[in-house]
Amino acid sequence: MKLFETMNQHGHERVAFHVDPATGLKAIIALHSSVLGNALGGTRRWAYTDESEAIRDVLRLSEGMTYKSAATDLPMGGAKSVIMIEKGKVPTEAEARAMGRFVDTFAGKYIAAEDVGVNTQYCDWMAQETSHIMGGETVSHGGDPSPFTSQGTFNAMKACLAHAGRKVEFSGLKVAVQGLGATGYRLAKLCRDHGATVIGTDVNPAAIERAVKELGVVALNPGQDIFAQECDILAPCALGAALNHTTIKHLKCAIICGTANNQLHDAAVDGPALKQRGILYGPDFIVNAGGVIRLAGLYLGMTEAALDKKIEQIEQTTTAVLKEGKNDPSEHVAAVNYAKRRIEAGRKAKLAQPAMA
Ligand code: NAD
Repeated sequence: MKLFETMNQHGHERVAFHVDPATGLKAIIALHSSVLGNALGGTRRWAYTDESEAIRDVLRLSEGMTYKSAATDLPMGGAKSVIMIEKGKVPTEAEARAMGRFVDTFAGKYIAAEDVGVNTQYCDWMAQETSHIMGGETVSHGGDPSPFTSQGTFNAMKACLAHAGRKVEFSGLKVAVQGLGATGYRLAKLCRDHGATVIGTDVNPAAIERAVKELGVVALNPGQDIFAQECDILAPCALGAALNHTTIKHLKCAIICGTANNQLHDAAVDGPALKQRGILYGPDFIVNAGGVIRLAGLYLGMTEAALDKKIEQIEQTTTAVLKEGKNDPSEHVAAVNYAKRRIEAGRKAKLAQPAMA
């Protein structure tokens, strides 16, 4: 990969690599943009096949965070970090603290939080080395953001239903959830509690068992493909790139609205492909903004009431973006433009400020 060229193309400000020989930590932090403010973004801990895959992931994820924060009108930039692990490597306090020291080198321009493979305990461990952590178990670190992500995505589902000209009601609907982890499980619960039938899948048998037992989720049989199931709403809630040239041709859903980041494998191709198939796509960084609203809002000192209101507003933001998307090649393009307008306004406002003496 031509790293500088890619950074330049996508507007990344800074990418930092770090190795801690004592713990085996190998990590990357990508700061995409600090135009609107300091950047909050989760830390993903994953067994990547190689370094290129990890770099691609952190670049894509950090860019998405910039758009996510901007679209929701948070005065925050966008960044993300990834930790490369060997498959099955158990997270340790020592590794997390080494990561915390790495985060601290950004002196507050980057604030780390949870993502796939990193939980509240891990955030608390990182926070022993730096004050620039959100998402830990203690109140001052904000706690687990995933219930707020799920709630925001559920609110966005309502906007998608209305935009598709359907009744905004879940009873009688069939929702298919890929990934029944922290966000997928809660989204499945919200849909079930509002009367929908939920079918689901996960690569982790324990996650399926729990969702079947506790929520009455209908599990797919081995060999059945969640992307080929007839349903009203498909909710990708696992890893990115779930929507690609292989899955899109099999889809039998009216709407896609899920919590996963970077759902489109290649946004330039897969966004328009969904539109051509007549499938309404709730852009990922618009619909899954509940978690960042929660953590960034607490970091910025917002009240609980203001935070709840902002998560409620995901429904209106989704509606506005989907309306714009009618004339765009894809809903994803509309969402990026929606966010970029806010970043540009922020850049101009900064330039208009008098220089410090
Ligand atoms: P999680 O790790 O708790 O859950 C993900 C689940 O997906 C796991 O149970 C895993 O076994 C399953 N999974 C992985 N690959 C799969 C596959 N191919 N098929 C089926 N299941 C698969 O993570 P999470 O916090 O629920 O995050 C899920 C997605 O949502 C991620 O893309 C994350 O970046 C995004 N997201 C999460 C938050 C949050 O608040 N946690 C906020 C915004 C976006």
